[in-house]
Amino acid sequence: MVAARRIGLDFDNTLITYDDVFLAMARERGLTAADFAGRKQAIRDSIRLLPDGELSWQQLQGQVYGKGVARASMFDGVDVFLRRCKQSNVPVVIVSHKTEFGHHDPERVNLRQAALQWMTAQGFFEDYGIARENVYFEGTRQEKIARIAQLDCSHFIDDLEEVLTDPDFPKNIERILFSEGGANSVSEPIMVCPTWRDVEQQVFRDAA
Ligand SMILES: [Mg+2]
Repeated sequence: MVAARRIGLDFDNTLITYDDVFLAMARERGLTAADFAGRKQAIRDSIRLLPDGELSWQQLQGQVYGKGVARASMFDGVDVFLRRCKQSNVPVVIVSHKTEFGHHDPERVNLRQAALQWMTAQGFFEDYGIARENVYFEGTRQEKIARIAQLDCSHFIDDLEEVLTDPDFPKNIERILFSEGGANSVSEPIMVCPTWRDVEQQVFRDAA
């Protein structure tokens, strides 16, 4: 007998990837050369070397997570995973640590509304059947963890190990780290999945 599943998902850098947006907006602002290639970390390291680089990096982040959300893409395999959840009648909740406004965004984009618009455009509510009321935004990591505990998830998938290894994170929830690297923690039972295909196999490993 398979225990009832209720899948909890982080949002930023778990469902949505900003890598292409960081690169595009860094180029548009003249912070990187036109032929620069690399992901978020490489872009950050390069910008921080510039005069006032730290401030430029903070401002770029504010833009990417603000109006840049509309240009961000869904990670490969998320669509297949969400469809399988829908087909299998497995409820999905999204719990995101996200403030309403960024610190360095002169345009004052509402980050939560922008995220909801992105989810709508990607078909989260219409196509994948996620209930709108099952999307939660929390102002702090502790509030996020409290929400996850309250929702009684069977699994939670997050790209940040420090969320999953937080002392308050419920121990009865199966923790999946979405990461291309390994986990640093050896004391906590965390499954590391580098792709969404791996996440799907892990979550549905008992399914026929
Ligand atoms: Mg995240």
